[in-house]
This record gives sequence, C-alpha cells and structure tokens, in this order.
Amino acid sequence: MEHTATGWWIEEAGGPPPAQAPLEGPVDADVVVIGAGYLGMWTAWQLLERDPETEVVIVESGQAGHGPSGRNGGFVNGYWEYVPELASRFGLDPAIELARQADRSILEIGEFCRRGKVDAWYHQAPHLEISTAPYQDGAWREALWGLNRFGIDDEVVELVPAQVDQLCFSPVFRGGAWKRIGATVQPARLAFGLRSALLARGVRLFEHSEVCEIDQGEHSITVRTGRGRVHASHAVLAVNWRTTRWPAFSREVSVASSHIVLTEPVPDVIEEIGWTGGEAITDCQKMIHYFRTTRDGRIAFGWGGGRMAAGGLHSPDLDVDLEVVERTAATMRRFFPALEGREITHAWGGPIDVAPRTLPIYRSSGRLHAGWGFTGHGVGPSHLGGKILSGLALGARDEYTKLVLVEPPVKTFPPEPARTIGGNLIRGAMIRREDAQAAGEPVGPVTGLISQLPKLIGLNLPR
Ligand SMILES: Cc1cc2nc3c(=O)[nH]c(=O)nc-3n(C[C@H](O)[C@H](O)[C@H](O)COP(=O)(O)OP(=O)(O)OC[C@H]3O[C@@H](n4cnc5c(N)ncnc54)[C@H](O)[C@@H]3O)c2cc1C
Repeated sequence: MEHTATGWWIEEAGGPPPAQAPLEGPVDADVVVIGAGYLGMWTAWQLLERDPETEVVIVESGQAGHGPSGRNGGFVNGYWEYVPELASRFGLDPAIELARQADRSILEIGEFCRRGKVDAWYHQAPHLEISTAPYQDGAWREALWGLNRFGIDDEVVELVPAQVDQLCFSPVFRGGAWKRIGATVQPARLAFGLRSALLARGVRLFEHSEVCEIDQGEHSITVRTGRGRVHASHAVLAVNWRTTRWPAFSREVSVASSHIVLTEPVPDVIEEIGWTGGEAITDCQKMIHYFRTTRDGRIAFGWGGGRMAAGGLHSPDLDVDLEVVERTAATMRRFFPALEGREITHAWGGPIDVAPRTLPIYRSSGRLHAGWGFTGHGVGPSHLGGKILSGLALGARDEYTKLVLVEPPVKTFPPEPARTIGGNLIRGAMIRREDAQAAGEPVGPVTGLISQLPKLIGLNLPR
C-alpha cells in the first residue's frame, strides 16, 4: 500500500502540472486571492464571471490543488438537511435559499466541466445516508421530518432496508435516506482543470509563494510573501485550515483530519454488490464513514475520525496516519466482505477546517474577505463560496452576499490550549462511544458525558 500525503487522485490526474513561477517583486491587481484550493480558484473564476476586466492575482504557498482540494473524497453535496435548523435560526426563506443555491452549485460544477471539457469524472447521482448499526437507525429523520413540516418532501427520502440493498448490498447496511441532488468528481482532475481554465483566462497564479503578512491601508491592501508583494483594492483569504493563522478569524476554526483508503480495481465486486449507480454513500456515525466507487472500478473509503491538529499547527499525522488508516481499512472490509483477498493500493489523508456550527463562514475585515469552515464538505459548497467572496470583494450586495453564511452571529471555539486538549478528549470519547454502540455494548458514563460536551456548549460536531 502506498501511503502518502497527496494520495492517488493527484497521481491519477497525471501528477501536478508544471509549477507557475513564484511571486518576486511588486505586482498590482484589482483583487488578490490567497490560496489556490477550490475556494480561491472558484473565487477567481467568479470574479471574472462578474467582470471579465477584473485583474485577478492568486498567490499559493504550495501548488494549486495540492491541499484537501486535490485529495478529498469527491462528494459534491448540498445543504437540504440543514434547512430545519437554519430555518429556526434565520427563517424558512433564507434557509431554503441557501439549499437552492447549493444545489445550483452542484449542477454548475457539472456545467463547468462539460463546457470547459474538463474530464473530472463528474457524475450526478443521489447521495445515500445509511444506518450500519441499530443505534444509527433513523438518524436522518429529524432533518427529514423537519423538511416535511415545511412541505418539502422530495429532497430527502427515507429508504427501507430492501431499497438500500438494491442500491448497494452490504451485510451491515440497514435503512437509510436518499438525497436527491448530489454528484461525485475526481477531485484532483477538477482542481487541475480549474487551474488551467483560470490560466487560460489570464489570471496570474504565483505558486510556491507563501503569504506571511497582510497590510490594510485606507484605499488598498498589500499581501506580502518572502520575496514579493501584491498591491490590490481587495484581498480574499481562502486558506482553509490555515485560517488559524489569521487572528481576525482564528477563533472560529478548529482543525481535525480525514483519511481515505483505496482498493485496487474491483469491478466484479462492485457488480456483485449491485453498487453500479455511482452513488456516494455515508453512514450515520458522528465520526463519519464515506465511500464511493471510481471510474476504473475501485472503492474509495474514508473516515472523518482523524486526529486534531495541536494548536492548529500542521503535524504529519494529519496527512499520513497508519493507525487511522488501518482502522479505516478494517471498517471497509467489514462493510464489504466481498473485498476479501483484494488489495488496498493507496491511502492518504488531509486536514479539515472545522467551523463551530459545521457550516462555512464568510466574513470581511476591512478589505480582506475570508471564507473557511467547510468541515469536510467543501467540494460543492466552495463553488458557492466563490460566488460569495467575489461579491464581497467587488462590493456587491446580491443574492450571494446576502446568504445566511455571510457574517453569521459569531460562535467561537475555546482558546488554545483548551481547544486542542478538549478536541482530542472529545474525539477519543466519540470513538469509544460509537465503538460501544456499534457493538451493542453500554457506553461508560464518563465517555457518555465527554462525548455530549459539544452539544452542551452549542457546538455541532463535524460529520
Ligand atoms: C481526506 C479528505 C476527504 C474529504 N472529502 C470530502 C468530500 O468527499 N466532499 C467534500 O465536500 N469535502 C471533502 N473534504 C473537504 C474538502 O476537500 C475541502 O472542504 C475543500 O477542498 C476546501 O477547499 P479550500 O480551497 O478551502 O481548501 P484547500 O484545498 O486547503 O486550499 C487552500 C490553499 O491555500 C493554500 N495556502 C494556505 N496558506 C497559505 C498562505 N499563507 N499563502 C498562500 N497560500 C496558502 C494551501 O496551500 C492550499 O492550496 C475532504 C477533505 C479531506 C482532507
């Protein structure tokens, strides 16, 4: 098994394209975007969609698409299950508007691929959420019934076990729910395709150029790297988990990790279990398992239960963590015993930018506009994020910049070191709790209490 930081998707996509030159000396722009993951690149794209004359510069510390954007699970998801909770906080119309815009983004990513001839394996298919143990049964009903109360009955639909079996058979699968609009992509192909499309439209991209300082003036903003600087009217910060470095936003982000294992091509197994529709599937654990098939007949199987980043700083086990990967592989084999004797060829992982309420946050601080907090669900939502941040950078007041994700009421994580210590304690307790529940064993009182802490202090757990 090849266990690396960057993973199989980037390799499959032909490896990283030749790097663009680093930033040297002074450069002027209308908008400078910091970070070339999906969010930064979609923002640059949307800036040009809004006004093709906009001078856009992107400054990237590594290579575009090498962060989580090039190595995620490729689930392109929307927001309908959040509608009941958002409706109670912001009202029904704003909640529905967000879910509709997120769906539009799912479809527009497909349109981008078709029009631009970007072969990112875009495949539209419903997403399934499946119970894999009695304690998970009906986990989707709170959202489902909440939606039904508002007369929305086709976005999330309950499936009985026999229907689940028809879509994908596993001896551990029980009932589930079906989310109507969803898609999957090959994440690195999408990231590299977007990068090429931006270069073709004249966006200047500087790679291997880490932004270390941002200075705000009354009429402009300057972004500095070790050897250069960009002077612009507005800047966009799209650095995912590294938002922890920027004090204006850092109290609203915490860093966890997620890891994926990948089988050799097993088209016969996929056929045997009837999983031929390309549906992306998750279980109903809080420490979520997510799995999908690939175009060449592999199964990619991920677990969102990776370690937290101490103090929000990078550590190697955010990307490469043998213990977490072994656990993930064992779960995949338990879910799909038909994989017996089949090889796991690749494993990798990456950091997750966790937001206090698990939905991304968009805020402005003077001329700096930032987005972060996808909490493991940024592939589709970052497209919508690009519409929001481009609007904020151009001073637009429109359907995107008015969404409930923009300047939401502040909810912070505890300060460090309590954030990391508490996060690790809760992670451990959640894993013990879900292991006990899956085995039908009682949950110890201390484990039970610690794993409930986020709920007690009003934080949502990442899924
Ligand atoms: C293993 C794994 C599986 C996942 N699976 C899914 C999934 O199936 N579906 C889903 O929706 N989401 C998933 N996610 C999350 C998803 O990948 C992210 O939400 C998404 O890629 C966010 O894009 P981004 O642009 O915010 O971040 P990134 O891709 O991290 O891009 C940020 C960029 O900023 C750059 N940067 C950072 N600091 C600086 C600086 N100071 N100066 C210049 N550049 C800087 C980084 O190098 C990076 O390229 C997964 C994540 C992981 C790790």
